[in-house]
Amino acid sequence: MEEKLKDIYNKCIEELRTVEINIKDNPLIGNVDIKLAKRDAKRYGCCKQEEPDKKYYHIEKRGRKKYKKYDRFKKHHIEISKWVLELNEDIIKNTVMHEIIHCLPNCNNHGKEFKKYANYINKKLGYDIKTVGNKEEDYKKSNLPYKKESNDYKYKIICKKCGQVIYRKRLKKDLIQKYICSKCGGKLNLEQIRQF
Ligand SMILES: [Zn+2]
Ligand SMILES: [Zn+2]
Repeated sequence: MEEKLKDIYNKCIEELRTVEINIKDNPLIGNVDIKLAKRDAKRYGCCKQEEPDKKYYHIEKRGRKKYKKYDRFKKHHIEISKWVLELNEDIIKNTVMHEIIHCLPNCNNHGKEFKKYANYINKKLGYDIKTVGNKEEDYKKSNLPYKKESNDYKYKIICKKCGQVIYRKRLKKDLIQKYICSKCGGKLNLEQIRQF
């Protein structure tokens, strides 16, 4: 699978070269590597960045706090989730391309610059790069069964009496103590917590 990912990555790099975007040996980008994510995460992929070029930054405000956000990095580590590799090749390529864009200057978020590149690549190379993926849709397109519970939800709650299963993305601490089964009024039990 790792081999397949590297092949697809190289294809993407090659296609980008044809539209004047050079990823390899580009001092503005630095070093990029790609691998399969170790843990099975919900997300398609991510791009971890290191060694910011401290000359390039902007200030971001969140509430009263201000954060210094760097815009260029010298090292980029792309990780793609294993489940993505089971989908259709065009979906894998869109995912890989999405993460490659994050390596470009001023693109480590889904802001204006990221969208500019995504639109350009979509238009020029026929990609369908989005800022947020739709897992259910992508599984359907790939003719694969989509199991919501195993992918999307972190918490599985089971009624001790009737066995009704409830899935939750978030869990209020008091849910188990305070609430009872909607079907039978039985007590609830937290079955598993998936760690991502
Ligand atoms: Zn992204
Ligand atoms: Zn019940």
